[in-house]
Parts: sequence; C-alpha cells; structure tokens
Amino acid sequence: MSTRPSRPARRAFKRTPPNPKPEYEFLGPPGAVAMLIALPLITYGLYYNCRKEFGCPPAFWDSKDGFWPSIGANPMVYPVDLWDFFLSTWDVAAFQVYTAFLIFLFVCYFVVPGYVVDGAVVGGVGGSPLTRDRSNYTLKYKINAFRTLMLIAVIAIATLVTKGVEPFLFLHSHFVGLITASLIWTCGVSIFVYIWSFLPDSDGQEKILAKGGNTGNMIYDFVLGRELNPRFSASPNSTFDIKYFVELRPGLIGWILLNIGFACQQYSMLGRITNSMAAVLFFETFYVVDALWNEASILTTMDITTDGFGFMLANGLLTWLPMNYSLQARYLAAYPVDMSIFHCFVVFGVQCIGYYIFRGANGQKDTFRRYGASAPQNKGLKYMGTASGSKLLISGWWGTARHINYLGDWLMALAWSLPCGLATPIPYFYPIYFAILLIHRELRDEEKCHKKYGKDWDKYCEIVRWRIIPYIY
Ligand code: NDP
Repeated sequence: MSTRPSRPARRAFKRTPPNPKPEYEFLGPPGAVAMLIALPLITYGLYYNCRKEFGCPPAFWDSKDGFWPSIGANPMVYPVDLWDFFLSTWDVAAFQVYTAFLIFLFVCYFVVPGYVVDGAVVGGVGGSPLTRDRSNYTLKYKINAFRTLMLIAVIAIATLVTKGVEPFLFLHSHFVGLITASLIWTCGVSIFVYIWSFLPDSDGQEKILAKGGNTGNMIYDFVLGRELNPRFSASPNSTFDIKYFVELRPGLIGWILLNIGFACQQYSMLGRITNSMAAVLFFETFYVVDALWNEASILTTMDITTDGFGFMLANGLLTWLPMNYSLQARYLAAYPVDMSIFHCFVVFGVQCIGYYIFRGANGQKDTFRRYGASAPQNKGLKYMGTASGSKLLISGWWGTARHINYLGDWLMALAWSLPCGLATPIPYFYPIYFAILLIHRELRDEEKCHKKYGKDWDKYCEIVRWRIIPYIY
C-alpha cells in the first residue's frame, strides 16, 4: 500500500509552508553572508599569520617589545583578490589525500561492524502531516565510529613502526592545501544537501526540514541548513545519514591525525617531542576517544535533533574543527616549548579540574534523564517537578550553575593552549572562540528551556542563579 498522501492533502501542505514565521538567529541573512566569507578566511588567517616563515603576532606583554608592541614586526596577511588567493592554495596531492580519507571513512561506515540504535525524537517541520507523526519521529543510526578510530590507530601505528615519521610529514607540509581541499568538500556537500532538500523522499513524501533553516531566504537556509537529517538508503538495510556521518568522524579523527603529523614534524626537527607537545597530543586524543566511545550520546544533542545540515555545520566539521583545533600542535611544531615542572603542574591541574566538572555534570544529567529521579544512581539528588512533566535537578552539579558543564569543557580547552606558553595569543584562539560559542549556546538553550518550562523555568532560575560560572556569571 502506498504511503503517499492524497493530492488534496499535498496541496494543503504546500499552501501552509512548514515554517510560516521564520525566526532568524545569527543576525539573519547578513550574519549568514558574513559566516560564508569569514569562517574560511579565519582558518586561512590563523595559518598565514602564525607559522615559522613569518612568525606570530607577539603577546601584548612581550618582553622584547614592551607593552602593546607594534604588530608591524609580524605583518598580518590579508588576501586582496580572494579568488586568486584561493587558487594559490590549490594542491592536487592534498586534495587527493583529503578525498581518500573521506572515502576511507565512508567505506568504514558500512564495513566496520557496529550496531544500530534509535535516535532521539527529532524536532523538524514539514514532511507529510498525514503519514508522519512528527511528535514521535525517530531515526536509526549505526554506531561504529570508535571501532573505525581503532582501525585507523592500528594503521597509523603500523605506518610509524615500519616507515617512520616521513609519511606523516605530508600533513604538515601540505597543510594549507588540506584547508583548501576541506573547503571544496564543505562547499560541495553544502550545495548537494541544499538541492537535495527540495527533492521528495524515496517514498515520495516531502522532506523533514529544520525549523531554523527553513525561512525561504536562500542564503540563510543554505548556511543554516534546510533539511534536518539528509540521508539516503544505500541498501534496504543500510541508511547513510550525511549529517551524522560528518558530525563525529572526519573532523575529530582528522584533528588527531593532523596532531600526529605536527608531532612528527617536531620529532624530525628535534629528534624528540617536547613535554608540551606530548601533553597536547594526550589531552586532545583523550577527548576524541571519549567522544567516539560515547558516540550514541551525540544523538540527543541540538546538532542532530534540531539544527539543519548546511554550510555552517559542514564547514564546522570538515574544515573548522580539524584545521583550527589542531592549532596548538601546529604552533608547537614550529615553536617547541619545554614546560617547567610548575608549568606542567598548572596545565595538568586545569585539565583535571575541567574534566572532573565536564564528565561529572554531563554524566549526572545523562543518568538523571535516562534512569529517572527514583533510580538508585540518583539517590540524594534534589529536583523540582514542572508542569511539562519533566523534572529539573536543583542540587549536585546542576545546582551550582545552569550550565556548569560548559565551564568544565572550557577549562579543558584552556588546558590545551597553556602548554604553548604566552609568547603569542594565537594558540589561545580556541578557548577565546569557544567561550563566545558557549555563551551564545547557553542563551539559545535558555530560550529553548524557557519555551518548554515557562514559569517553572523562572522558578528554577531563582533557585539556581548562575548561568555558567558560580558567583561570577
Ligand atoms: P547540555 O548538556 O547543556 O543540555 C542542556 C539541556 O539539559 C537543556 O536543554 C535541558 O533539556 C536539560 N537541562 C537543563 N537544566 C537541567 C537540569 N537542571 N536538570 C536536568 N536537565 C536539565 O547541552 P549541550 O548539547 O549544549 O552540551 C552538551 C556538551 O557538549 C557540553 O559539555 C558542551 O560543553 C559540549 N559542547 C561542545 C562543543 C564543542 O565544539 N567542543 C560544542 C557544543 C557543545 P531538557 O530539560 O529538555 O531535557
């Protein structure tokens, strides 16, 4: 029996656009245009303005130049003709390597053994109102990212043992070409999913669209992402979800491979790696292993359940994450730092405190949501009931600040930059940008919770006064 809705129902659906009242975020269409231009330029800018050949901008308190030194000693590079600049960074070998990496991950997605889980209820709009119950609409996802990482780790270790560091030096010497390759893929994937979002599903129904990326403004929707979960069936039993695939694999695994490439570069220069490089490698690898081990927990995040898949997310995961998050290791490859015992102590202290808060808070909420208030694991925790039926924790981590988990995450980001020392602010790009992201995300989540809980949320805010940092913010 066909599940296609009747013609009158389809006509009625077309008359009522899925998202009749667009609510813009990120400053609306001008913000979307700014992101299209600025995000790639920032990634190139971080490379061209901090590397061995040109040096990096000095810190404001640089001992040689005194306070507020002129940055003229390290001229900033601004491309004048963007297209010429882009062409100058084109590198065939880098494009081939980046593409081979994506194809390898794609093949692993299907052939590496895993298991299938149900995702959370998705919050999209559109689709056929007659044949889909959107209040109870979940998708299935294959879990095998951690095993894929293990396979890549085995290949990487075997390469290091048999061929030495040489093959990994490619990642350092072709880095700018890899940025360009990742941007080409970002644009290709974004254009594809935007066009794909207008085509009917394999069963002939309209696609489920993201509430936020479905405004009718072409550029805004292209950047924010029009379709909620673009996916296609490779075989009757196997579905490929583009957003889910891109979410954890190319960015996170690519980040660690780049870090290894930069560590190999340092090794080829010094004959060893410094303790600061070892700390950065260890902390960041640990973060990625933790994320891939808990792959299923991504399914309840806003990225999967609420946000569309467009240029912003594709750029974030294919380009921004691997190229910018590996900045500390890239910096240390050019400017090795040997930390003193005191420096090591501070760095490890900040990392441990950050991880303790991050894992403690996220784990506490996860257990509370998953097993309910009366479960033995949640004994002793205080909570308040709400009219929505969902309970809110008011003690433990969630009684100290409404997003204490963000504080833990940010402290870890700081711990990854501290090993680079204080000679230049460039390696601190990640904690600075991440602070802005988390403050903005907290405001977005606050708005979401206010809509969901209404007056109960106001009451909760009176009990738990602080947003992210107790007694400060
Ligand atoms: P959170 O884990 O902060 O969850 C927010 C949700 O938790 C709310 O929407 C609400 O949902 C529920 N909640 C809020 N208060 C309470 C309470 N008192 N008791 C019980 N439930 C509550 O969401 P995020 O997805 O923003 O963050 C998850 C992690 O991912 C964080 O650690 C963050 O730092 C990290 N992250 C990292 C990024 C990176 O680039 N490295 C980017 C973004 C996030 P409801 O009530 O509906 O269940």
